[in-house]
Amino acid sequence: MDPLRHAYSFCPLCRTDMVRREEGGTVRPMCPDCGFVQYLNPSPAAAVIVRRGEQVLLARRRFEPRAGQWTLPAGFLEYDEPADVAARREALEETGLDVEIADLFAVHHGMLPPDRSVILVVYRAEERGGSLEAGDDAEAVGFFDLDDLPGPIAFSAHRKVLDALSAEARERKAR
Ligand SMILES: [Zn+2]
Repeated sequence: MDPLRHAYSFCPLCRTDMVRREEGGTVRPMCPDCGFVQYLNPSPAAAVIVRRGEQVLLARRRFEPRAGQWTLPAGFLEYDEPADVAARREALEETGLDVEIADLFAVHHGMLPPDRSVILVVYRAEERGGSLEAGDDAEAVGFFDLDDLPGPIAFSAHRKVLDALSAEARERKAR
């Protein structure tokens, strides 16, 4: 993973050839003319965990990367959108379900292939209405048992969440 693969060749403000400068141990693309610095940050995304009993809601991706693979309902935040609002919106767009965000479950770092760095904010949510139907960039949706998930799960951050839910379920059974 080389973040500088995403570096601009030309300054987006004044079109000068960008150079690379070290700043606090990190090499950053910078414009030698106007001083513009390109900060290469992860992109924020949000996901929701919606349960029906022991089952969890998943969506199958319609588009690359990882088309045909399964994830929690999830997507990128819009510019001025809080993470919990994005999580609720993605659930509605992808699965047709209206959900209420309950609490923060986890924050994971992951890679959207080939190499887009993502921070995934994961919430638990309660189903409040709507009707289950695939939409937007989902081609199928459904509730699945944690020990009988469809495969493959598209992204490592989502697998971590599902693994954590499975561990929770095992602990509950053991008590
Ligand atoms: Zn410039």
